[in-house]
Amino acid sequence: MHASSVGLEIAATGRIVELYRFDGPAEWTAAPLFRLCCDSLLGSFKIWNAATIGGNICMSLPAGPMISLTTALEATYTLWPRDAAPRDIKAIDFVTGNHANALRPGELLRSIKIPAAALAKRFAFRRASLTHLGRSSVLVIGTQDRAKHDLLLTITASTPRPVQLRFGQVPSADDLRRAIDAQISADDYFDDVNGLPAYRRHTTHYFAQQIRAELAQPGT
Ligand SMILES: Cc1cc2nc3c(=O)[nH]c(=O)nc-3n(C[C@H](O)[C@H](O)[C@H](O)COP(=O)(O)OP(=O)(O)OC[C@H]3O[C@@H](n4cnc5c(N)ncnc54)[C@H](O)[C@@H]3O)c2cc1C
Repeated sequence: MHASSVGLEIAATGRIVELYRFDGPAEWTAAPLFRLCCDSLLGSFKIWNAATIGGNICMSLPAGPMISLTTALEATYTLWPRDAAPRDIKAIDFVTGNHANALRPGELLRSIKIPAAALAKRFAFRRASLTHLGRSSVLVIGTQDRAKHDLLLTITASTPRPVQLRFGQVPSADDLRRAIDAQISADDYFDDVNGLPAYRRHTTHYFAQQIRAELAQPGT
């Protein structure tokens, strides 16, 4: 894990527990998201003492909290193809579906770069699980650049792949509802034992509105 004025570079082989223990500079006000997302991994410390950040991303499950974290923080992943030069891909473009991603045969995820500008944002975090310490059924993160008073909303776990909505300013409740419905149809919500699509849709909207209201307030 390498912190600099540019941001944070994380080796894909870094363990989730290392991210949990990471103590960033004071201006990285979004860094508490690291712990919130580590705590979102079912199995708690027993799993994240051994599991790697890259492994969680490459597993590409809807409830992969390292995907939620790095997508919300606008990360770029560096991939190492087997017989070609390294290539970069935005986190939002990496997971393509449930257990599916943009890796080509033999390709490795080498590292994850989170820009300092994203780490310096305000954030709001909401997560639901059907059982205590259960796998996430809905995980929504909002971030905001203090100077712009914008909103970047990242929806994960309730959909097979992350969905991101970018607003130049905090939208009205109606505009937010319409924007989510335009991006995610009722049939697009994930369906498994961790939550029915209708529940996931309802909770996604509920959390998104809470985040909108929270980040509409002036903050530090
Ligand atoms: C009790 C329990 C609870 C769990 N809860 C969750 C949960 O809530 N959410 C969740 O998402 N998962 C969960 N898992 C599944 C899994 O343990 C986690 O996703 C874990 O983070 C995977 O990390 P790992 O390092 O063990 O990956 P591995 O199992 O080693 O790898 C996962 C896959 O990614 C590939 N891979 C790993 N690293 C790279 C790389 N750098 N480049 C390319 N490919 C790579 C591997 O070949 C493999 O196909 C759980 C598992 C258990 C046993």
